[in-house]
Amino acid sequence: PINKILISSCFLGERVRYNGVVKPLVNKLLQQWQKQGRLISICPEVISGLPVPRPPAEIDPNTKQVITIESIDVTEQFDKGAKIALHLCQQHNIQLALLKESSPSCGSNTIYDGTFSQKKIIGEGVTTKLLRVHGIKVFSEASIEELAAQIDK
Ligand code: SF4
Repeated sequence: PINKILISSCFLGERVRYNGVVKPLVNKLLQQWQKQGRLISICPEVISGLPVPRPPAEIDPNTKQVITIESIDVTEQFDKGAKIALHLCQQHNIQLALLKESSPSCGSNTIYDGTFSQKKIIGEGVTTKLLRVHGIKVFSEASIEELAAQIDK
């Protein structure tokens, strides 16, 4: 069986981002995987019931709560989205994920620092964290070649 890959649905040009702006990732490998039927897409935030557009949210580095710029605690929604993403991986026997860097859900190396000042720190998003706990390897748009090297040809 071919390896399937979980992918942030914003990479496929779906209108799921917090600000409603569509931002597809244009990449040859991605096009190839799409054609091969490898990609299973999800936006953990939208699947949890959050709207588009929605206020930006960041993880508080101390409490680990996810808080919007309007000071609303959306941790529960983010946790729910992460669980649905994990379930989807388990259903499709997915071991690999390509998720958007720096997102409070999907970030895999960096996230914003919780102060809404565009500053990034080392860290991972809520979905990435849960997937990794369950052994799924998470890559970003910057490490797509490394992901390609993990795939059975
Ligand atoms: Fe993209 Fe993930 Fe943000 Fe959804 S939660 S818009 S999939 S980065």
